[in-house]
Amino acid sequence: MDNCLFCNIVAKKIPAKIVYEDENTIAFNDINPQAPIHILVIPKKHISGLNDLNDENLINMIHLSKTANQLTKQEGIAESGYRWVINSGKDGGQTVFHLHLHLLGGRNLSWPPG
Ligand code: 5GP
Ligand code: ZN
Repeated sequence: MDNCLFCNIVAKKIPAKIVYEDENTIAFNDINPQAPIHILVIPKKHISGLNDLNDENLINMIHLSKTANQLTKQEGIAESGYRWVINSGKDGGQTVFHLHLHLLGGRNLSWPPG
Protein backbone atom coordinates (compact mmCIF):
# COMPACT_ATOMS: atom_id res chain seq x y z
CA MET A 1 0.00 0.00 0.00
CA ASP A 2 1.59 3.23 -1.22
CA ASN A 3 0.25 5.42 1.56
CA CYS A 4 1.18 3.07 4.41
CA LEU A 5 4.28 4.11 6.39
CA PHE A 6 5.30 0.55 7.28
CA CYS A 7 4.70 -0.76 3.73
CA ASN A 8 7.10 1.97 2.64
CA ILE A 9 9.66 0.75 5.19
CA VAL A 10 9.19 -2.80 3.81
CA ALA A 11 9.76 -1.41 0.30
CA LYS A 12 12.86 0.49 1.58
CA LYS A 13 11.34 3.74 0.35
CA ILE A 14 11.53 5.10 3.90
CA PRO A 15 14.71 4.36 5.86
CA ALA A 16 14.68 2.45 9.14
CA LYS A 17 17.29 0.76 11.30
CA ILE A 18 16.46 -2.79 10.23
CA VAL A 19 17.62 -5.44 12.71
CA TYR A 20 16.12 -8.51 11.03
CA GLU A 21 14.47 -9.45 7.76
CA ASP A 22 13.21 -12.64 6.14
CA GLU A 23 10.66 -13.47 3.48
CA ASN A 24 7.68 -12.88 5.76
CA THR A 25 8.72 -10.33 8.35
CA ILE A 26 10.90 -7.30 8.92
CA ALA A 27 12.00 -5.81 12.25
CA PHE A 28 13.40 -2.35 12.91
CA ASN A 29 14.11 -0.01 15.80
CA ASP A 30 11.23 2.21 16.88
CA ILE A 31 11.92 5.87 16.03
CA ASN A 32 10.72 6.92 19.50
CA PRO A 33 11.96 4.15 21.81
CA GLN A 34 10.14 3.62 25.11
CA ALA A 35 12.78 1.25 26.50
CA PRO A 36 16.48 0.51 25.84
CA ILE A 37 15.28 -2.17 23.42
CA HIS A 38 12.21 -1.19 21.40
CA ILE A 39 11.87 -3.08 18.15
CA LEU A 40 8.85 -3.20 15.86
CA VAL A 41 8.21 -6.55 14.20
CA ILE A 42 5.86 -6.41 11.23
CA PRO A 43 4.56 -8.73 8.53
CA LYS A 44 5.67 -7.75 5.03
CA LYS A 45 2.09 -8.27 3.94
CA HIS A 46 -0.18 -5.32 4.71
CA ILE A 47 -2.67 -6.16 7.46
CA SER A 48 -4.21 -3.10 9.13
CA GLY A 49 -4.29 -4.52 12.64
CA LEU A 50 -5.61 -7.23 14.92
CA ASN A 51 -9.21 -6.65 13.74
CA ASP A 52 -8.19 -7.66 10.23
CA LEU A 53 -6.77 -11.04 11.12
CA ASN A 54 -8.67 -13.89 9.50
CA ASP A 55 -8.23 -17.58 8.69
CA GLU A 56 -6.24 -16.72 5.58
CA ASN A 57 -3.69 -14.31 7.08
CA LEU A 58 -3.47 -15.60 10.67
CA ILE A 59 -0.26 -17.41 9.70
CA ASN A 60 1.39 -13.97 9.87
CA MET A 61 0.93 -13.96 13.65
CA ILE A 62 3.02 -17.10 13.77
CA HIS A 63 5.66 -15.45 11.62
CA LEU A 64 5.66 -12.41 13.94
CA SER A 65 5.99 -14.62 17.02
CA LYS A 66 8.85 -16.58 15.50
CA THR A 67 10.78 -13.42 14.59
CA ALA A 68 10.06 -11.72 17.93
CA ASN A 69 11.14 -14.82 19.82
CA GLN A 70 14.40 -14.97 17.86
CA LEU A 71 15.06 -11.25 18.46
CA THR A 72 14.33 -11.60 22.17
CA LYS A 73 17.16 -14.12 22.37
CA GLN A 74 19.41 -12.14 19.98
CA GLU A 75 19.01 -8.98 22.09
CA GLY A 76 19.86 -10.91 25.27
CA ILE A 77 16.62 -10.17 27.13
CA ALA A 78 15.06 -13.64 27.08
CA GLU A 79 16.12 -14.27 30.68
CA SER A 80 15.86 -10.73 32.13
CA GLY A 81 12.34 -10.32 30.77
CA TYR A 82 10.55 -8.34 28.11
CA ARG A 83 7.13 -7.47 26.79
CA TRP A 84 5.35 -7.95 23.48
CA VAL A 85 2.66 -5.36 22.81
CA ILE A 86 0.17 -5.00 19.98
CA ASN A 87 -1.94 -1.86 20.27
CA SER A 88 -5.34 -1.92 18.59
CA GLY A 89 -7.67 0.95 17.73
CA LYS A 90 -8.12 4.31 19.42
CA ASP A 91 -8.33 3.15 23.02
CA GLY A 92 -5.46 0.72 22.45
CA GLY A 93 -3.24 3.58 21.27
CA GLN A 94 -2.69 2.33 17.73
CA THR A 95 -1.25 5.08 15.53
CA VAL A 96 0.10 3.12 12.54
CA PHE A 97 -2.43 0.92 10.78
CA HIS A 98 -0.11 -1.85 9.62
CA LEU A 99 0.01 -4.72 12.10
CA HIS A 100 3.09 -4.50 14.33
CA LEU A 101 4.37 -6.11 17.49
CA HIS A 102 6.40 -3.95 19.88
CA LEU A 103 9.26 -5.85 21.50
CA LEU A 104 10.24 -3.92 24.63
CA GLY A 105 12.98 -4.75 27.10
CA GLY A 106 16.20 -3.74 28.79
CA ARG A 107 14.54 -2.13 31.82
CA ASN A 108 11.92 -2.97 34.41
CA LEU A 109 8.58 -2.44 32.67
CA SER A 110 5.83 -1.24 34.96
CA TRP A 111 2.33 -2.70 35.06
CA PRO A 112 -0.44 -1.85 34.41
CA PRO A 113 0.37 0.17 31.28
CA GLY A 114 -1.08 3.69 31.04
P1 5GP B 1 1.42 2.14 17.62
O1 5GP B 1 1.19 3.42 18.40
O2 5GP B 1 0.62 2.14 16.33
O3 5GP B 1 1.21 0.90 18.42
O4 5GP B 1 2.95 2.12 17.25
C1 5GP B 1 3.50 2.84 16.20
C2 5GP B 1 4.97 2.97 16.51
O5 5GP B 1 5.64 3.34 15.31
C3 5GP B 1 5.29 4.04 17.54
O6 5GP B 1 5.98 3.44 18.64
C4 5GP B 1 6.16 5.04 16.79
O7 5GP B 1 7.20 5.58 17.56
C5 5GP B 1 6.68 4.21 15.63
N1 5GP B 1 6.95 4.97 14.43
C6 5GP B 1 6.17 5.93 13.87
N2 5GP B 1 6.72 6.41 12.74
C7 5GP B 1 7.89 5.73 12.58
C8 5GP B 1 8.93 5.78 11.58
O8 5GP B 1 8.88 6.53 10.61
N3 5GP B 1 9.98 4.94 11.75
C9 5GP B 1 10.07 4.09 12.82
N4 5GP B 1 11.15 3.32 12.89
N5 5GP B 1 9.11 4.00 13.77
C10 5GP B 1 8.05 4.82 13.65
ZN1 ZN C 1 1.15 -1.43 5.27
